[in-house]
Amino acid sequence: MTQQRGRFITLEGVDGAGKSTHIAWLTDAVRAHGVSVVSTREPGGTPLGEQLRALVLTEPMALETETLLMFAARSEHVRTVIQPAIEAGEWVVCDRFTDATYAYQGGGRKLGASRIATLEQWVHPAFQPDRTWLFDVPLEVARARLADAREPDRFEREGAAFFERTRAAYHARAAADPERFRIIDGTQSIAAIREQLDASLAEMMAAST
Ligand code: ADP
Repeated sequence: MTQQRGRFITLEGVDGAGKSTHIAWLTDAVRAHGVSVVSTREPGGTPLGEQLRALVLTEPMALETETLLMFAARSEHVRTVIQPAIEAGEWVVCDRFTDATYAYQGGGRKLGASRIATLEQWVHPAFQPDRTWLFDVPLEVARARLADAREPDRFEREGAAFFERTRAAYHARAAADPERFRIIDGTQSIAAIREQLDASLAEMMAAST
């Protein structure tokens, strides 16, 4: 019998939208369906990727450098972690992926989509998440949550216009691929969001058997 391919789930959204809050819970929820699951994040997810993450979140650098480092980390991550797991039949839950580069570097920092599409085509041709949950919140909510949560990184220190461009680029991605994306209203309670994620996950499980 050939091994059934696993599924690739990504969580996206601006900083403070609430993605990371659900990663551990979601990993357990997938496992509760009797499926083996890997939980990971971007930038990062490998020893090299985590070093690149530390650089891109803290060091000043040109936009081109930033974008290339995101894809350098992603290349390592896709080849050594994500694709091998999926080919082995495991599910992968990932906090951010290429949609984040379209949103942050493409939208927030105004690089536009075409260079990112070129890099995407090079680094992971014909490979996309099976499901992407986009956590959506307005600026005030994201700001209030981050103020309570942690020291801001290079992206979290950006202003309102950057936030709005990033959020808009995420919405454009979702509108272009409604099959893959589910938009989650991130202003809801954590419990209400989990109910929605649970339902979406059950739908994926039913489709995969
Ligand atoms: P992200 O990963 O999207 O940047 P986090 O998951 O780190 O966001 O959440 C940022 C902060 O907001 C954390 O302190 C978290 O506890 C809080 N938070 C997350 N989701 C909610 C929610 N639905 N309601 C209230 N607070 C939340």
